[in-house]
Amino acid sequence: MADGRNLLVLPGDGIGPEVMREVRRIVEWLNRRLNLKFEIEEDLVGGAAIDAHGRSLTDATLKLAKDADAVLLGAVGGPKWDKVAFDIRPEAGLLGLRKGLGLFANLRPALCFEALVDASSLKPEIVRGLDILIVRELTGGVYFGTPRGIETLPDGSRRGINTQVYTTEEIRRVARAAFELARVRKGRVTSAEKANVMESGILWREEVTFVHGKEYPDVKLEHMYADNCAMQLVKNPKQFDVIVTDNLFGDILSDEAAMLTGSLGMLPSASLGAKAADGRLPALYEPVHGSAPDIAGRDLANPIATILSFAMALKYSFGLPEEAKRLEAAIERVLATGLRTADIMQPGMAKVSTGVMGESIVRELDKSLE
Ligand code: NAD
Repeated sequence: MADGRNLLVLPGDGIGPEVMREVRRIVEWLNRRLNLKFEIEEDLVGGAAIDAHGRSLTDATLKLAKDADAVLLGAVGGPKWDKVAFDIRPEAGLLGLRKGLGLFANLRPALCFEALVDASSLKPEIVRGLDILIVRELTGGVYFGTPRGIETLPDGSRRGINTQVYTTEEIRRVARAAFELARVRKGRVTSAEKANVMESGILWREEVTFVHGKEYPDVKLEHMYADNCAMQLVKNPKQFDVIVTDNLFGDILSDEAAMLTGSLGMLPSASLGAKAADGRLPALYEPVHGSAPDIAGRDLANPIATILSFAMALKYSFGLPEEAKRLEAAIERVLATGLRTADIMQPGMAKVSTGVMGESIVRELDKSLE
């Protein structure tokens, strides 16, 4: 790819291409009105790549991903590919990208838009203005540790085994990611583990403390047991800024935090790797939702999760935090005018299509320059 801001777009399957079309509208606007010189390359992943190439991620696509400044993915999968071999299934494309790019930190923000405050199952005063970020370790811990398996014991009963395992370096690198993010947010990190009952939790706490003392004394660090963290997230979520935690606890806590603010169609995510010596940061941005085959091809999908994922790319990959804010503010204003896709529809609001939602966000971006 040439110089400039290189974005690899992988729309994928189902509603992926529909929501990605709306992101392209935003990128075109940034180029046309702000001369930001984004260059977009597009390729196949998931089921679409299986149909074209017989595998869900080709080496050529992975190379494009490695060369790009950021990768934006729609979603993969669908009933059409449910019966393909396990190692070429659509999800393998996503795992291949994560592995190939060395992505170990998964970022899941929980951001509450004022217009959707009543859509949360929690009281408005608890979620109003909420803006927290969960950083989940993505490649280690109990989901990958060995020994693992199911064995039959001499008495004929069975035993299931998984191993929670973390090394110093695995903990330190995700801790660094969390501290770096806190520095461009509100400067606070809460580290969640179970140091009261797990040795891996004791090591986690020691290593996070070590990295903090040595490299990030300017950031405020607090430790919390993961079960207490789960309670605090519904009791008083605004006490948090960045939460860093392991793969298993992060899986659960990030889903809990996501639901503080409502619909799947609104939830972005990012996965980051280690910053290279030349400053390049491997990064994959994608909505939390899947390919939604039940509504695919009908112009019904909410594109906001994918647009917010692109806003994260503006912030973390392209050094454009002000443009990320401009985009988030445009979304907030569109919601405030009462436009809703079907998934976030509320009484008295106007139901709009994927395309109209995207166009309306671009119109608000225009207004931001008036
Ligand atoms: P899903 O997230 O695709 O859909 C769950 C429900 O939420 C559906 O009713 C869907 O219509 C709705 N929904 C999701 N995104 C929406 C949006 N942007 N706007 C409006 N409504 C939305 O989850 P699923 O149905 O369990 O999975 C469908 C397929 O997606 C499966 O093949 C699954 O393997 C795959 N999947 C992929 C990813 C990914 O690519 N990262 C993640 C989850 C599931």
